[in-house]
Amino acid sequence: MKPVASRVKAIQPSPTVRLGTLAKELQAKGERVENLSIGEPDFPTPAHIIEAAKRALDDVPMTKYVSSLGLRELREAIAEKSQRENGIPATADNVLVAPTKHCLFLAIMALVEPGDEVLMPDPGWVSYDPMTRLAGGRPVPVPAADEAGFLMTPDAIEEAITPRTKAVLVNSPSNPAGVVFSEDVFRGIADACRDHDLFLISDEIYEKIIYEGRHISPASLDGMFDRTITVHGFSKTYAMTGWRVGWLAAEKSLLKEIVKVQEQTITCVPGFVQRAARAALTGPTAPVEKMVAEFRARRDIASEELSRVPQLQAFRPGGAFYFFPRYDGGTPAHEVSERLLKEGHVAVTPGSAFGQLGEGHLRISYAASRETIRRGIRNIGAVLGKRSAR
Ligand code: GLU
Repeated sequence: MKPVASRVKAIQPSPTVRLGTLAKELQAKGERVENLSIGEPDFPTPAHIIEAAKRALDDVPMTKYVSSLGLRELREAIAEKSQRENGIPATADNVLVAPTKHCLFLAIMALVEPGDEVLMPDPGWVSYDPMTRLAGGRPVPVPAADEAGFLMTPDAIEEAITPRTKAVLVNSPSNPAGVVFSEDVFRGIADACRDHDLFLISDEIYEKIIYEGRHISPASLDGMFDRTITVHGFSKTYAMTGWRVGWLAAEKSLLKEIVKVQEQTITCVPGFVQRAARAALTGPTAPVEKMVAEFRARRDIASEELSRVPQLQAFRPGGAFYFFPRYDGGTPAHEVSERLLKEGHVAVTPGSAFGQLGEGHLRISYAASRETIRRGIRNIGAVLGKRSAR
């Protein structure tokens, strides 16, 4: 048999998705696992969103193909939100609806030529690198580790730029460290993009899950709208991970190219899912406020528990729902996380999954119940204390 394509051979499975699935499978078999791996809110999707989907299922066109760009009513709501909350000058004609991960892939596919370099944070979310490789591009990690407060600084970006650089990928609040980039940092990043004629892909999926600092959308900065693709979604804010719906906003001529990739691949997001997404965006804000308040309380519980584990040094996140503590010693992170699962019945994601500079760290998702967080971190402490991670 002939081999599969080398571009697929060259990438790894998604460690976050794999571990999340494994933890759920073990739980389904009756094994006790404290699941602090995947970033998936444990809350149910708010009732008014589910109701909107149910109503839409009785509306015949909503179970048929709909526009590849997305329902106009949803794109209008997204544009209105982007203008009002984020200062992004987008209209419905700048918006495309797709699953958030697919939005990132569409953006990369539309921008990256074989050999083009894409700058991305290290540590950074697990799928930026493989998506770039699938498009034939070269991922270029930009140091954004403990010493830099997990920020991808404008200086570090400047240093990484070459004549082949095509785009910069930025994510605030960030995964895996939960850092919130300041306006100053974004201004510096925007300057670098303008000076070197680069595109910016801004992954803003954690916008609403923020405890300190203010969310900045770089597309709102002077002259940045035309060169920024803003990517966002419903999964984290509205506990809608299984609905697979998000959006991107881009300048019109760019969007015209991006939508071709959507038409040639998934066609559209189901209409009834888009109706639910619209209900999420335009409905009551109280359910989101309640979930974010609970995430904040969980962050504080996790922080307190982590402070009792001397083998871990944790940075306190200002947003998202992850801690990314460093541990002592040279044991590879995947070995530490395997040991934690086997001996401590706790699932965490090894820091090395997020890039070379993530090695020596563990990512702990606190999108889990208070009890799971408490038991999980105590189990981590017990395992690391019993046999040092060295
Ligand atoms: N983004 C989440 C995480 O980092 C969900 C899984 C994924 O798509 O990577 O855990």
